[in-house]
Amino acid sequence: MIKVENLVKRYGANYALNDVSFEIGEGEVVGLLGPNGAGKSTTMNILTGFLAATSGTATIGGVDIREDPIAAKRMIGYLPEQPPLYPDMTVEEYLNFVYELKGCTLERGPHLAEIMSVVKLTDVRGRLIRNLSKGYKQRVGIAQALIGDPKVVIFDEPTVGLDPKQILEVRNLIRALSKNHTVILSTHILAEVQSVCQRVLIINRGRLIADKHTDELARSLEDSVIYRAKIAGPEREVTNALRAMHGMKSVTATAEKEADATVYLLEGARGFDIRKPLFRLLAGANYPLLELAPTGTDLESIFIRLVERSDAADAPSVRK
Ligand code: ADP
Repeated sequence: MIKVENLVKRYGANYALNDVSFEIGEGEVVGLLGPNGAGKSTTMNILTGFLAATSGTATIGGVDIREDPIAAKRMIGYLPEQPPLYPDMTVEEYLNFVYELKGCTLERGPHLAEIMSVVKLTDVRGRLIRNLSKGYKQRVGIAQALIGDPKVVIFDEPTVGLDPKQILEVRNLIRALSKNHTVILSTHILAEVQSVCQRVLIINRGRLIADKHTDELARSLEDSVIYRAKIAGPEREVTNALRAMHGMKSVTATAEKEADATVYLLEGARGFDIRKPLFRLLAGANYPLLELAPTGTDLESIFIRLVERSDAADAPSVRK
């Protein structure tokens, strides 16, 4: 349904997106996850035709967004983080307005009635938007995205600023929509991805660092315990000593530093407890071990680990 190939977006010398490729099949619900500044909005803005890529291609339902933006846009409903609502219109007036704006050709009355019923706005159809609660305003935003019955619906941080009850309602609504639509959900909230999405694309610094099924992501790292160790001493020498240690599978220096100490992520070989040999190695080499703790295997820790690994891979100081 969506195919993105080698997408690059450059601002001067900075890459907001750097060679990103992925595919999303019909009916999939995919989370786009990443820290602030990762490139999520850039990706969505290119997919929705608001922004042109520097290079690479994006197609929706086989239609290249650059070649035929109107046809491609027709297949997409978009809920921006701040939907452009008109507070002085009633819900129904606003949806009629969007219907006109999109040049929708579906039979108006039944189409709008169905959307209002799906997002549960029927009871407030005559109310001014300005008088609606934040949760209801968000439903109006979702309703406008659904006008024209797009095959793909893209949500940008749809639950920001809502109370817990409203958050559950919006998540349930997205889950319900996923039965008939391909959904992309951009968020920095892991619980949201876990509760709504089958698959997750993780972006960090403009690069795609993971593309996995939500449970596969958690499972993939379950077997290995990874320790976070804060160790004093010159980073290059400490890294080399750690890498040479028997039973050590991987060593990653993170960007987290304190005076002469660096935080490392240490992964032992399967079934090998690295703690005692690590202590002996560091004591012998006079690199004081300041902290040592296992990282969790919940989605949050996995996410942090993936992001830190990709940050470390980008940092020139640890490049060989
Ligand atoms: P996210 O949505 O994941 O928070 P964005 O896609 O908004 O991230 O931004 C990705 C990167 O591109 C950021 O480093 C941001 O500073 C940069 N960026 C975004 N828009 C512009 C712009 N108009 N000019 C220069 N840099 C930009």
